[in-house]
Parts: sequence; structure tokens; C-alpha cells
Amino acid sequence: MNDNFDIGIIGGGPAGYTYALHASAQGKSVVLFEKDQIGGVCLNKGCIPTKSILHSSEVYKQTLNSENFGITAQNVTLDYSKVIERKNKTVETLRKGIELALKNAKVNVIHGEAQIQDKNTISLKPSPKIQALDANLKPNFNPLPEVEGIYYCSKIVCSTGSSPKIIKGLEFDHEFLLSSDDILNIASLPKSILIVGSGAIGVEWARIFNNFGVETTVVELAQHLLPLADTEVSKRLERIFKAEKIKFYTQTCVKEINNKKINLSNGETLEPDMVLVAVGRTPNITDKIEGVTYIGDVTGEIQLAHYAIKQAIEDIDGIKFKKELTPSVVYGTPEIAWVGKREQDLEPESYKKSLVLLSAIGKAHCDGQTDGFIKILSQNDKIVGAHIVSNEASSLIQQINVAMQNGVTVDKLKEVCFPHPTYSEGIYDALFKL
Ligand SMILES: Cc1cc2nc3c(=O)[nH]c(=O)nc-3n(C[C@H](O)[C@H](O)[C@H](O)COP(=O)(O)OP(=O)(O)OC[C@H]3O[C@@H](n4cnc5c(N)ncnc54)[C@H](O)[C@@H]3O)c2cc1C
Repeated sequence: MNDNFDIGIIGGGPAGYTYALHASAQGKSVVLFEKDQIGGVCLNKGCIPTKSILHSSEVYKQTLNSENFGITAQNVTLDYSKVIERKNKTVETLRKGIELALKNAKVNVIHGEAQIQDKNTISLKPSPKIQALDANLKPNFNPLPEVEGIYYCSKIVCSTGSSPKIIKGLEFDHEFLLSSDDILNIASLPKSILIVGSGAIGVEWARIFNNFGVETTVVELAQHLLPLADTEVSKRLERIFKAEKIKFYTQTCVKEINNKKINLSNGETLEPDMVLVAVGRTPNITDKIEGVTYIGDVTGEIQLAHYAIKQAIEDIDGIKFKKELTPSVVYGTPEIAWVGKREQDLEPESYKKSLVLLSAIGKAHCDGQTDGFIKILSQNDKIVGAHIVSNEASSLIQQINVAMQNGVTVDKLKEVCFPHPTYSEGIYDALFKL
């Protein structure tokens, strides 16, 4: 077959751009189609913008509470437009970095909406924005196909991602009922907000709004907040939410909305200024085509950026990974992270458990952040799960993950020297309680 490219990739999010860069490093000719912006949801509407706004909200709250640390701050004011400006700058800087990396790797980036015709053919929908990133980057064996043309590729990778899930009765109107995309574009903060869903996205936004002083309420259908977490973690989060005065209802759903009045299944009526609906994401796919490789959120498997990246690397570089060891992180203060089995997944009596409270860790006291724990579950001297509610949990979990990935025994881990004073000492202490 007279292919134009070795590899055609649809979607320039973490899955797609990782695949493109790694394929190109192997000397393959690559064309990458992106209908919106390079970086995908993660960079433009997800991981990065939310963490940037979250950080601003934490700085604001810390400044207001700085007296606890011996610092008096007066006339503290919040300019939300500057928060958004900073977020936009962060996103742009990172996007430019990825675009440059793609350019340097000689990946042909085509801006436009692509469609898979068959396992070797991609067609491009007409779009005024269509342009090759660099007109000089033509493959040396065949000219770039015409705009709106057909692209023949030896292999096609579909990494078209996912979109906010729409549920009946809570369809987005983009003004009152907002998606996680819409919420990034609000010009000013509301006085009150209702967040439907307490997965990572719902919890992070609840923390952001609460930090900024917005009256925040969360509604969750499941028995506990953060339903995918270990139950002890969920319960601790509920305790933290109570302390932070974030109102929440579990085992509750929105029954109906009447003229911006929200009737809950428990009989209560709320009148928030706006509602964020964060109840999951739907893969951007219609029918799967045989012979095409699907990676990232579009697979509907674990919808996390690092999972998407690992799937790309597994396919192109052949580096296998243990999917069950994909870590989860929820950002905010304190961070929450886990990997492996939850306590509710294990048969009673079949495992050992150790739990170290942050109040036993020196660094937690120095930072004024003593609400949380490090919990490790083991079976036959091997760690099978870890659940952390602590500052730096996002990094701490990775120490345990490396051990789990490599089957390092608890006894062997005890040989490692952990620095003092750090949160990681909590991991070390936990090992001796197993
Ligand atoms: C608010 C929020 C916060 C999040 N926070 C985190 C986090 O902290 N950590 C984490 O790991 N994950 C987080 N995620 C999830 C993360 O964003 C996704 O898992 C990740 O973006 C998936 O990467 P992907 O490459 O599969 O898809 P995407 O990032 O969705 O990229 C897909 C790309 O394909 C493009 N596309 C779609 N169809 C076509 C077409 N026909 N032609 C051309 N282009 C097309 C889209 O425009 C998009 O750019 C968050 C998500 C949200 C919404």
C-alpha cells in the first residue's frame, strides 16, 4: 500500500501527543490531527487549569489564615480575573512546550477534525483553521495530502478523548447548569454553588470554591463522598469537608429543577447561584473500527492522563504496565492519593493493615496540616494497597507504587533510609506496623 505516513493519530491530548513523540523518536513518520488545541482536555480544560486555579485559591486561603503562622496580612483582596489570567498563562506556556516538542520531533500536526474511514485511511473535515504546523515538515516520500484530503497511514491511533457526561434533567445550559468546561470560563465567582458529583473533579472544585469563600454544597448519590476511594479515605474526607464547612449530602440526588430551585431527593430545596454537574465523562467515539488502536479516555477505561500516557507508551514502545497499579490523586489540602486494593476489596482476615496518623509526624505539625493518615495494606509481606490523606500525597504514593510494581517486600523496604523530617517517615513507620 502506498501509505503517506507510518502512523496517523487523531487527537492531540496526552495519549495522542505522547504516542506521536515516541513514534517519531523511533524514526516513524507521524501525522497528528487535532480539532481544537494541542494538549487536549488535560492541558486545556482539565488537570492543569484546575490545579492552577486550585493553587491560587490555596494561596488566598493561606494568606487569610496566615496569623496561625505568625504573619499578619491586611487588606487581602481577590481579583478572580487575575487568577484566570495566571491559569491561562500556565496553560499557554505548557501548550507551547508540547507544540515545540512536536515540531522538533518532525510530527506533522494538522489542525482539523479527522474521521477514520477504515483501518488505514483518515479523512479530514473542511475547516478554516486547517494548517500544517510547519509547511516545511513534509515527509520525504510523499507530498502532504491536500487539505480536506485523505491520509493513508500504515497504522491509525484513535485518541479522541472524552466529554462531560450529560444526564437527564441536568442538561448543561452553560449559564446556570455548567460542565467542567464551562466552569473554567466564568468571569466572576458566584456567592453559592451546588456541585453534583463527588469524584475527583467535584471534590477539587468544591475545595477551590470553598477556599475562595463561596458557599459550597456537594450532592453525591453514593453512600460516601469520593465513591471510588477506600471507605476510610472517603470518611476522612467527609470529616475534612465538615471542618472546612463544605456542606454535602450523600445518598442524595437532584430530583428536579424548577426555575433555578433545586429539589433534592431528600426533600430539601436549594437555590444556588450556579450548579456544576460533574458526574463523569463519556468517550468521544461512535463505532470502533477493527485494526485501529484506541488509547486514552476514548477507551472508557481509567480516565486519567497518566493512564492515557502509559497506554500510548505500552503500544508504541512495548513497555508493559500493571493497569491495576494506576494511582489516583485528588488535589487540594490535604491531598488524597491511593494505589492498588482498597480495604473493601479484600476478604476480612486475609490482609494486614497499618495506619499512621499525620498527627504522629513531625513535618505535619511544622506545616500545620495534621488531619490525615497514611494507610498501607499487605498480604504475604507484599504491599497490595496504599491510601494517603496528607500533604504531598501525590508524590508519597509513588514511593509505594514503585515498591508494589517491583514486588518489593515489606521487610526489604524497611532497609530503605527515609529522610527526616518528612511525610515519608509515615510510610516508614507504617511498615513496622504490618
Ligand atoms: C476538570 C478535570 C480535571 C482533571 N484532572 C486530572 C488530573 O488531575 N489528573 C489526571 O490524570 N487526569 C485528570 N483529568 C482527566 C484527563 O484530563 C484525561 O484523562 C486526559 O485528558 C485524557 O487524555 P486523552 O489524550 O485520552 O484525551 P483528551 O485529553 O480528551 O484529548 C483528546 C483530544 O482529541 C481531540 N479530538 C477529538 N475528536 C477529534 C477529531 N475527530 N479530530 C481531531 N481531534 C479530535 C480533542 O479536541 C482533544 O484535544 C481531568 C479531567 C477534567 C475534565
